[in-house]
Amino acid sequence: MKSLLSTALRRLSGEYTDPYTGVDYNVGFSIEHYELDLVYRVMPNLLSGEAKLHIRTVEDLDKLTLDLGGAMATRRLSANKHIKITRFRQSGGKIRITFDEVIEAGEEFILTVRYGGNPRPIRTTWGEIGWEETEAGALVASQPNGAPSWFPCDDTPGEKATYDIRVTADDPFTVISNGTLVSKKNRNSTTEWHYRVDSPMATYLATIQVGEFSKFQLGRNTTAWAPSHLRARVMEEFKQQQEMLDFFESLFGDYPFPDYQVVITEDELEIPLEAQGLSIFGSNHIMGNHRFERLIAHELAHQWFGNSVGIAEWKDIWLNEGFACYCEWLWVEHKGSETAHDLARSHYLVLSRKDEDLLLADPGARDMFDDRVYKRGAIAIHALRRALGDEAFFTAVRNYLHQARNSTVAPKDFFGHMDDAALEAGVALDEIARLSDAWLNHTPLPKFPA
Ligand SMILES: [Zn+2]
Repeated sequence: MKSLLSTALRRLSGEYTDPYTGVDYNVGFSIEHYELDLVYRVMPNLLSGEAKLHIRTVEDLDKLTLDLGGAMATRRLSANKHIKITRFRQSGGKIRITFDEVIEAGEEFILTVRYGGNPRPIRTTWGEIGWEETEAGALVASQPNGAPSWFPCDDTPGEKATYDIRVTADDPFTVISNGTLVSKKNRNSTTEWHYRVDSPMATYLATIQVGEFSKFQLGRNTTAWAPSHLRARVMEEFKQQQEMLDFFESLFGDYPFPDYQVVITEDELEIPLEAQGLSIFGSNHIMGNHRFERLIAHELAHQWFGNSVGIAEWKDIWLNEGFACYCEWLWVEHKGSETAHDLARSHYLVLSRKDEDLLLADPGARDMFDDRVYKRGAIAIHALRRALGDEAFFTAVRNYLHQARNSTVAPKDFFGHMDDAALEAGVALDEIARLSDAWLNHTPLPKFPA
């Protein structure tokens, strides 16, 4: 229900454009389920098919918009029930649809979009994101607004939906996607891969990975997909993956999805990327020397912080990245080589030598992925842990994750749980308010937590 409210509120408050992505909101409705039925031909990089969008209107409307990148051409649009489309136009990253009469608030219907083309990434403030061709296949990494590079959607993080993703590709390519593999059907040297995502997912976390991958079991519910020649390096780098998952479960409660997959691409990637239920690493991240172990922890942590519990607005990115970064330190602490406190201190020293002009509560589009968001966010979380003590702090984090599972939050939801912990631990509420204000709402670096 939360997402319905947020869409309606945007209209009421007159906010029409996402201040971070610069993309206009699609108002007046929610997409509750996506059924993507696609064919991907690797060599010509040709993607085509059909998206059935299960829509529920939240206000009376006779028009609506969807996000779809210009490389994907809309060929046909239709709706079920009595709903007729008068016309549609695709331009500026939007499909603009006009209906022949007003659809009342609360109506549910299915909009079918037939589309296709040579998918390419979307150009943004943060570089090219979304669909990308690889040496032998394709990958999708859409944070924050690359999803329309491959399917028509309502591309805003607060609008989560469930998915059925069917992709047919030529053999011998493997298609990996979010969720659970429901079926795999071979037909005339092609294979249809059908994945189902039952836990509501933000569009930017939807992904498909196409390549020649072998499957390696890492643990009970952890799997790796990688080119077969990387086997030894994969098994070395990810040998602690299951232990890491078990450790995070002990801190944060059950892993939020059916299983966890890592995909390692033949290509080198600048940074690893998170998707729901899976993470993507480049072959350069797994040299067999554990140099990037912290990133393995970081990406796994996003399954709790960012994926299961998402943010509705990009300005709150520190909640995702601060926690993912803090989890890197918790993992190191768990392994006994350094405490999170020592790590926080050394990163604090680095921060203290940088410009103090970043507002954690709203860093702005340009600095959204600035390292200071990650590190300052993590130290802010550490400051709360120090103030509350481990027991009260981790209990509150578990409660927060449990209550917000599969939905989206704002920082006030998180701090509500911190306040509960303060009451429990006999810490003054003023102290929590003072910490959150100093770390989030002012640019100077607060004192290092004692
Ligand atoms: Zn991250």
